Amino acid sequence: MTKRCLIGIPPLVDVERESYWMLPGYMDGIRLAKGLPVMFPLTTNESEINQLVDAVDGILLPGGPDVDPALYGEQPIPAASESLPNRDTMELTLLHQALRQHKPVLGICKGIQLVNVAFGGTLYQDLPSQRPTHVNHCMTPPYDRTVHTVDIVEGTPLAQTLGAGSLAVNSYHHQAICNLAPCLEAMAYSEDGLVEAVRKPDETFLWAVQWHPELMYRTDEASRQLFRAFVQACRA
Ligand code: MN
Repeated sequence: MTKRCLIGIPPLVDVERESYWMLPGYMDGIRLAKGLPVMFPLTTNESEINQLVDAVDGILLPGGPDVDPALYGEQPIPAASESLPNRDTMELTLLHQALRQHKPVLGICKGIQLVNVAFGGTLYQDLPSQRPTHVNHCMTPPYDRTVHTVDIVEGTPLAQTLGAGSLAVNSYHHQAICNLAPCLEAMAYSEDGLVEAVRKPDETFLWAVQWHPELMYRTDEASRQLFRAFVQACRA
């Protein structure tokens, strides 16, 4: 039996119920790509996080509530929603520790926003009020259907994986990258010009996407390919 590589995922947090939870799609998308996901406890303790990163082959940064605007030097606007400072702290530490240990990282939705903020970028705190558009970025269920396209930039590793040009994606986000962090490279733009996929070119594999492959992988080959590219990088 070949051993699967372990992918660590920080927990989703339900404050009201004092609970951790997980969206099965993150785990099942990884499992279908022949990785083995494991959910971490919520911790901001650096040595615990280092040990957790030690124990896995890669990190998936999942969706979640808004990144604290203070982390990119802004006050929250009225349309911004609650952030979870402990998750932000844990995920930033996880990200930096994973890169220090040369372990692959895939960010999804909040994950791309966190990656951008981690390297000095900023966010639109609320797209509808700050950047009105005809494109539907905040769809209603079911989420396994496509609502807009992204243009995958030729010559990027994402184009090698999914092909360059137009890809139809789902979209469920009210925030997005505003100023892209200088060290990140855009790999896809939505049809209204938002950065919807990035990578950090000097890392083996730090990719992040704004759409939701974990809600589409059952029916969407591109979502499965994205998980496979990540798990393959974790295996390498
Ligand atoms: Mn979108």
